[in-house]
Amino acid sequence: MKVHGFESATLLTDRVQQRAGLDCGHPRHLLYNLSVLRLIAGLTASAALVLAANADLILRNGKIVTVDQKFTIQQAVAVKRGKITAVGSDAAVLKAERGPETKLVDLQGKTVLPGLVDAHVHAVDSGLSEFRGQLAPLNSFAAVRAYVAQQAAKTPKGQWIVVPRTFPTRLTELQMPTRELLDFEKDHPVLFDASYVVILNSYGLRKCGITRDTPNPPAGEIVKDTEGEPTGLLKNAPSLIVGLDRTAHFTEAEKLDALEQQLKRYVAAGLTTVGDRAVNPEQIDLYEKLKAAGRLPIRVVMTWRPDASQPTGTLQQQIQSAPYTTNSGDSWLKFGTFKLTLDGGMTIGTAYQRSPYGAFGKQLYGKTNPDDRGQLFIPPAKLLAIMRTARDRGWQLTTHDQGGGAVDNFLDTLEQLDREKPIGPTRSHLMHASFQSPEAIARMKKLGVLADVQAPWLYLDGAALEQVFGYDAMRYFYPLRSYIDAGIIVAAGSDHMIGHNKNSAVNPYNPFLSMWTEITRLTTEGKVIHPEQKITRAEALKTHTIWPAYLQFAEKERGTIEPGKLADLVAIDRDYLTCPEAQIREIQPVMVMIDGKIVSSGN
Ligand SMILES: [Zn+2]
Repeated sequence: MKVHGFESATLLTDRVQQRAGLDCGHPRHLLYNLSVLRLIAGLTASAALVLAANADLILRNGKIVTVDQKFTIQQAVAVKRGKITAVGSDAAVLKAERGPETKLVDLQGKTVLPGLVDAHVHAVDSGLSEFRGQLAPLNSFAAVRAYVAQQAAKTPKGQWIVVPRTFPTRLTELQMPTRELLDFEKDHPVLFDASYVVILNSYGLRKCGITRDTPNPPAGEIVKDTEGEPTGLLKNAPSLIVGLDRTAHFTEAEKLDALEQQLKRYVAAGLTTVGDRAVNPEQIDLYEKLKAAGRLPIRVVMTWRPDASQPTGTLQQQIQSAPYTTNSGDSWLKFGTFKLTLDGGMTIGTAYQRSPYGAFGKQLYGKTNPDDRGQLFIPPAKLLAIMRTARDRGWQLTTHDQGGGAVDNFLDTLEQLDREKPIGPTRSHLMHASFQSPEAIARMKKLGVLADVQAPWLYLDGAALEQVFGYDAMRYFYPLRSYIDAGIIVAAGSDHMIGHNKNSAVNPYNPFLSMWTEITRLTTEGKVIHPEQKITRAEALKTHTIWPAYLQFAEKERGTIEPGKLADLVAIDRDYLTCPEAQIREIQPVMVMIDGKIVSSGN
């Protein structure tokens, strides 16, 4: 009876509150509202008591950065059954929410933020990357060679050695490795992995049967020197690699363990939701199995990326018959976006640009053609046809679009779709959009298109990219000020691909490093790139809380600390809003709460 009485009281309160339009979220109003509602609802005295003083947990004596409309700072937050029930002063929250069973936590003045979101990770591959052993930090040619030699000593002759994902923009030489760098290794085929681009040594080329006469694969390129010989560099050509299956040797149990452990590392970094930005059916299955086994430690929003190299009709059929679309799932695991990869990467010179890469592009990216603008993987007609099918199936749309040329292409597509039906409500977005322009930003604003951004690339790659494109062009490299001033919603993420350490992984997934970069626009060389594009600490916090929640259609359930929202919080070791700017990237979580449960004491 007590349970029954409690349930109905809660429901009634919710209903009356909704009808009365009282869910304004202002803490003072909320406390007031609850007491009025008790009278309105005519509850029995005991039910009212249960309702009045029933929080599972109250965090008090803190600095609660709510990120609500007014960016209100409060002292205390009460949590019940996974949700936030009140936010306010210590006295008000304790008075209204404290019951005999309520657990009290003294925050001792610590700052509490809404649970942070990383809108862009690749958790399965990252988790597996160091599952069996730590990867060496590879930041120079010498380190790459030492790594290959070390692997050669323990790898049977003739078997592949893979140099884990490293980008030329992050090597001290600022130069794309070539076959020659790896040719000291004679007994093993070697593959240097730079994501969409790989470099093989001569043994590797022989093993794959790649010669001066081998034709380019569809949408890919075998880079050849002036004599017509392969340089070892292959762009977007995984089908040419023979005898290398990099994940086949993990059992499903190992994959589940690796994924779970990686998701826990995200939690320890202060994250309570991640967007996994390129899942395939196998990865969807892994997530669903983790969830079914009660082992999903963090909320996950999955982006489905089918293989765009399939014929248009096949892809359309796949989209129509897939049992899921945007928002299928629940607050722990759901589908977000439909994604296609439109161009290559800016760290490897395959991003499809508005203009050629020029002279420094040759050194940095190993380019042999000075007019090269990068690679566009999907012709406009195919992109439009597939995106239309996905839109009609209810999907939010995105493409990986790094270079300005790819950005403009995807905006063309979205504009065409918008003529048929407004695209704004789908919350479709550009992904990366590293090289922006005022024109493209104006088009985004008009269409209601959002941005998925990776600020730490400015920190890590800004110095190298400035040499390629010049300082002026860098003004529109992650132009967050321009986005925000145009009213464009910005969701920040890392694009974490490999490595376990939150600060040294490729790419680092420490959300405080990301916010620090957005606030300072500093590069690894200590140079500020276009300070006019800096954003404030409050705005940077929104790029990792309420804005990605909005992109994920979850702004009503998370992203701020307000009554009625899911109790996802992170307490940190110093004050994000007032600590010296240089310390922002050093901030450590000391307590992470998801769904009302304290799940980590940080790392
Ligand atoms: Zn990605």
